[in-house]
Amino acid sequence: MQSQSQSPYYRAEPGPLAAQPLDMDQPYPAPGPDGFHTVSFYAFFAIPAGELPALRDAIQAEWSRDLGVVGRIYIGEQGINAQLSIPAERTRGLRAWLEQHAAFSGRISRFNWAIEHRRAFKALHVRVRPMVALDAPVALETLAREPEYLSPAEWEQALRQEGPGALLIDMRNTYEYRIGRFQNAVCPDADTFRDEMELVRGMCRGRPPDAPIYMYCTGGIRCSVAGAILKAEGHANVKTLQGGVIAYGRHVRSSPGSQSIYRGKNFTFDKRLGEEVTDDVLAQCDQCGAACDTFTNCANTSCNLLFIQCPACAARHRRTCGNALCLERARMSHDELVRNRMGPIWNYHMRIHPEKVFGRDGVARHPQSHHHHHRSPLPAGGAEAREDERKCTAGVVE
Ligand SMILES: [Zn+2]
Ligand SMILES: [Zn+2]
Repeated sequence: MQSQSQSPYYRAEPGPLAAQPLDMDQPYPAPGPDGFHTVSFYAFFAIPAGELPALRDAIQAEWSRDLGVVGRIYIGEQGINAQLSIPAERTRGLRAWLEQHAAFSGRISRFNWAIEHRRAFKALHVRVRPMVALDAPVALETLAREPEYLSPAEWEQALRQEGPGALLIDMRNTYEYRIGRFQNAVCPDADTFRDEMELVRGMCRGRPPDAPIYMYCTGGIRCSVAGAILKAEGHANVKTLQGGVIAYGRHVRSSPGSQSIYRGKNFTFDKRLGEEVTDDVLAQCDQCGAACDTFTNCANTSCNLLFIQCPACAARHRRTCGNALCLERARMSHDELVRNRMGPIWNYHMRIHPEKVFGRDGVARHPQSHHHHHRSPLPAGGAEAREDERKCTAGVVE
């Protein structure tokens, strides 16, 4: 164990999460049928900017080559946020790597295991990038004011006692909330974390400083940040779900016969685009209105519209949004696509708001302007990397 004076990495005062014992010696869950564990974790601590490129390269090379890890990792001056699939026989090796590395030793208190395990990414992408998209970085001293973390069982009990009058905020994107949510939750309708924080401040304004505010997100990181900001602004009693909906889903799965207060799916930022918490179907196909909660990306990668598509519409529209251009491009070979390169059709906002683009015929209306027909280079990294990028970029606020 390295002392603080030897380590160049400053650590914020440990909060309740950091105080948890490391889970290295805990039994690990059974892997998926393909032999992979799927896991996420995050931690807030300072990494000097100058160290980031080398750290990124080390993770990219050693995790990918030596450990067979696939997934998406962000590192930045304020820590790490990772979503991974790992061959199960290497999971302890990854844990050991983290504990032996000066930057990470003692900082990752636990792995947040997925509800369902399987290889959920095609390749490993490591990016130097802020962990949560804010205009200005939040000071580590602010992040250290962590909200209260409730275990899934404590969370469930507290919300049952509070009843429908509790202020319960879903910190995820609107499209995530569409396919699954806690009963009586409110979902601020915002596309960015910054805009969402403004709406949340509005919801909390005027409440007594000690009135409880409950908040949850996919894996916990957004609430760690949002809860710390609210606490710094005077709301003393912010409670968040430890490990997010992922952890609650595990709790529901491991308590057969219990009554879940979450209904539906948990959206995941990998190629699965969701895992089931309960079998309630809360949403409808964007093309025909049938009950459905299966997200897809339009098969035309230049369109990439994120929408809900039932199996019948998937067959009818060849896994596209139904637009003639998308149907044509979905039929093209890779060589034809390379010869007929096209930039993205939608901006981020439109790509995640299918309700704004589908007509009554179940066909997406593309923007009228054709300036998007300019040629743009395909991203580097080969077809597999592009596929992961395409599936994952919906989650830019996390
Ligand atoms: Zn349909
Ligand atoms: Zn399309």
